[in-house]
Amino acid sequence: MTMPALFVSHGAPTVILDETPVRKFLAKLSETVEKPREILAVSAHWETAAPVVSDAERPETIYDFYGFPDALYKLTYPAPGAPALAAKTRKLLTDAGLGPVGTETRGLDHGAWVPLMLGWPEADIPVTQLSIQPHKDPAWHYALGEALRPLRSEGVLILASGNLTHNLREFRGHTIDSEPEPWARAFDEWAGWAVSEGRTDELLDYRRIGPEAVRNHPTDEHLLPLFVAMGAGSAGVPGRHLHKSYTYGVLAMDAFAFS
Ligand code: ZN
Repeated sequence: MTMPALFVSHGAPTVILDETPVRKFLAKLSETVEKPREILAVSAHWETAAPVVSDAERPETIYDFYGFPDALYKLTYPAPGAPALAAKTRKLLTDAGLGPVGTETRGLDHGAWVPLMLGWPEADIPVTQLSIQPHKDPAWHYALGEALRPLRSEGVLILASGNLTHNLREFRGHTIDSEPEPWARAFDEWAGWAVSEGRTDELLDYRRIGPEAVRNHPTDEHLLPLFVAMGAGSAGVPGRHLHKSYTYGVLAMDAFAFS
């Protein structure tokens, strides 16, 4: 069984509570892809200097957000950890010259557990998490994905979680169902086109050539997981656009599959 690599946009932690098109989409992930044997999550919310993979046997649910409704802090995602997958991941990255690769017994941040809880609420698939490197460029993250590609044919789902647009400074004044801002739409339409057309080189150079790229990603940690998923896809196969919607007028909630 060969799994695709997915990129999903996780939005605000309240995505898990609010009835939105993206919530509906994430709740059907288990119908969108075959049930994976194991999951390797790559979230925008775990940033380290060099790659780190979690060896946690029972990853805890991390509440890495403040001032949200109490209900969110009561949710737990008790999936088993995947130390064997973590070890395999470390070996692949080391062999590809992307080391040194560290180890921690870290849990799952909301970039990982929000889509996991919606997609596979039974929490019975072993999962581990790999960090991103915010000071490294898209090409580095693409190379991480390439190194991880063999995992797909072992039934591992690479679940990369960020946001296709992400400018929280422009959040104010919007409600969850606000119309998308034109400058956000300009970037998300370009990126959606480029993914679907397999324009890898252009995407890797997104900061220079993507419309309104810097306004949509003042810092690029929420886009970096996209490049991991892209790299994990097969060479020459364009991504598939699985979902497109907005929350708060500035967060494009697109999802893509790379097979
Ligand atoms: Zn986030």
